[in-house]
Amino acid sequence: MSLSLSLYIHIPFCRAKCHYCDFNSYPGQERLIPRYLEAVTGEAREWSCLLERPSVKTIYFGGGTPTLLDPEQVGRLMDVCAGSFSLADDAEITVEANPETVSKELLHGLRRLGVNRISLGVQSFDGGLLKVLGRIHDVERALTAYRWARESGFPSINLDFIYGIPGQSLESWRRSLETALELMPDHLSLYCLTLEEGTPLQRKVLQWELEPPDPDLAADMYLLAEERLGQSGYLHYELSNWARPGHEGRHNLTYWQNQPYLGLGAGAHSYLSPRRFGNAASIEEYIDKVSPPWTVDKPGAAAEIEVLSPILEQADTVILGLRLGTGLDAGAFARRFGVAVAALYGPQIEELTGLGLLTLEKGCLQLTQRGRLLGNEVFLRFLAHTNTLFTPAR
Ligand code: SF4
Repeated sequence: MSLSLSLYIHIPFCRAKCHYCDFNSYPGQERLIPRYLEAVTGEAREWSCLLERPSVKTIYFGGGTPTLLDPEQVGRLMDVCAGSFSLADDAEITVEANPETVSKELLHGLRRLGVNRISLGVQSFDGGLLKVLGRIHDVERALTAYRWARESGFPSINLDFIYGIPGQSLESWRRSLETALELMPDHLSLYCLTLEEGTPLQRKVLQWELEPPDPDLAADMYLLAEERLGQSGYLHYELSNWARPGHEGRHNLTYWQNQPYLGLGAGAHSYLSPRRFGNAASIEEYIDKVSPPWTVDKPGAAAEIEVLSPILEQADTVILGLRLGTGLDAGAFARRFGVAVAALYGPQIEELTGLGLLTLEKGCLQLTQRGRLLGNEVFLRFLAHTNTLFTPAR
C-alpha cells in the first residue's frame, strides 16, 4: 500500500512584514516567484520518485501569503501535485489568505481550481489593534474578504485571530469574538500572541512604547472564547482551534496525530518516520538546492535532517495528541509503538493527574481545562522525561 500523507506548500512572499511575525516570509521578493514555483515543481517530482507516488489526503498552501499568487500559478502547482501524487478524491485543499490580497476574481478562481477551504488572517476586528500588529488590511477589508469568500462558495472558511495583544482589553476581545460569531465561520483559530525575538513589536514593548502583554488577561480571553464558542455550537477540538461539527481542519489533524507529512518550499518541514527534514529557509538558497541527486537520507532541498529515536517519536505523539480535544488515544498509541503510554510515563501521568492538569479515562489521556491553560508546563514534563532517557547520537 502506498504511503498516505498530507502535503504542505510554503509560499514565502508577503507584501509587508507584520510587526509580530517571525515566520519564514519575505516582503519585496515577488520577482523570484516564477523561479520559486519551478523549484517547488522540481521538489514535488523528486519526492514523488523517492516515495513512489504517495497518496495525498490534504494540501495546504501556507505562508507567507499564498494569495500573492494568481489562480493560474496556484493551478500550475495543483497540476504538479495531481501529476506527482495520488490525490484523494475527497482531498481537503486549503489556501491561506491575507484579506488585503484577495479579490472576488481570485477567490472564484481558487474555488474553480478545487480549493475547498480558505483560511483568512483576520487577527482582530479592532482597527487600532490591527495597526499595532502591523497588518496591511483594515476591519472593513476583512469583512469584505469574508463576504467574497462566502459568495465564492467555499465549503469551509476559517478565520484566524490573535489575542493577548498589547493594549487589548477583555471588552475589545469580546467584541471581536461577537463579530466573528455573527459571521458564522466554519472554523476559528485563536492564537495567543507571542512576542518573538527581534520583531518590531517586541522592541516596542522592551522600550515601553507598548505595554507588555498580561498573561492573566490572556488566560481570561482564552476562557471567554471557550465559553462563547462553546455556547455557539463550536467544538473545541484542539487547544487553539474550534470548528462547527464536520469542519475540523484535516490537514492540521495530521500534525497533531503525528502522522506523516511532506513540506515543499523554503523552510518547509517534513516528517517521514523516523526522519524529520527542514528545507533551506532562504528563498534563493532553496531554489539553488533543489537539484538532483536526491535520496531519502539526503533530499536535495533539506538543510536539516534529524533521525528520531523511538523515545522522541513517542514523546512527540503524546504532546501533539494532548493538544486535541479528544486527547491522546492510548489504544492507538500502544498499537503504534508496542508499549502502553501509562507504562512509559507512569510517574508523569500520576503527578499531572494529581495536580488536576490531566485525566486518563476510558483509554484517553486528556488535558483538563486547567491543563489547557498550563499546556506548556504539562508538555515540558514529558519532554524532560525524554531528555533523561535519550542522548542524541553524533
Ligand atoms: S502576512 Fe503572515 S507571514 Fe506575512 S508578514 Fe504577516 S504574519 Fe508574517
